[in-house]
Amino acid sequence: MTNTLTIHLHEVRQQDKVGLEILDKLVADSVPVSLGLGVDNLEAWQQHPQCYEHLREIMRAPNVELVQRGYRNICPKQETDERHTIRNPHHENRCSSFSDREINLDVQRERMKKGKEKLEEALDKECSAYCPPNGLYDIRTVEIAQNVLGYQHMVVQSILPCAPYRPRPISRHMVIVPQTKLDLAISAHVYTDLDHLPKVQREGLLARQINQGLSPLSTVKKDPWMGIQIPNRIMVPLDQLLRDWYVQVRDAKNWLMHVKQVLL
Ligand SMILES: [Zn+2]
Repeated sequence: MTNTLTIHLHEVRQQDKVGLEILDKLVADSVPVSLGLGVDNLEAWQQHPQCYEHLREIMRAPNVELVQRGYRNICPKQETDERHTIRNPHHENRCSSFSDREINLDVQRERMKKGKEKLEEALDKECSAYCPPNGLYDIRTVEIAQNVLGYQHMVVQSILPCAPYRPRPISRHMVIVPQTKLDLAISAHVYTDLDHLPKVQREGLLARQINQGLSPLSTVKKDPWMGIQIPNRIMVPLDQLLRDWYVQVRDAKNWLMHVKQVLL
């Protein structure tokens, strides 16, 4: 069984700078890590030339892989629907809206293509996996990632510790790697945010994950264990349900706040 670690980059705040120093040390120690970001995050980093150069230097290391986290991390429907800003808008491959979940195939494809091109050009590194923002995607996302962009791995931020699996029915090459929060310490495949690294380091969770022996994300295979596969058949759809539920509860809270503001 393999273990992986993905670190997500967002803004450049003080805690991110501390996280960057920790990341630097991991890279120097040849720890395999993947870094996930979108073009919006890339632009935030470009506003801080020193940190951006540092990031580009880290990217040159062979033990670092680049994960494409969508394009700009904003739902395409937000451009035509103002109410979408009340809902959490950070998804691109499947909408969290009740009535209209689908995001047009061409829109998905164009955004995913542009995101990959821009990240690779700026960071001078090939992206090795696709990560749908907020874990929201559909089967067409997998098709584009596999058939248009040539990805063999997709990373999905999950709640349950599911094993890596091949999505059906178009799963000839793609492996989906569900990753849970490093803080939970429940899975072999984990993610954390860069600004969260100082905390997980302090709590010993980072060392614990590293001591289990990490592998590059691009080497992860579908877990061949029968014992893992059978619970996985139940856990994967259950995880999808829980994530959908979490997104709806979060959006419902935003709507309640909005209604309160309008009424009071
Ligand atoms: Zn949306």
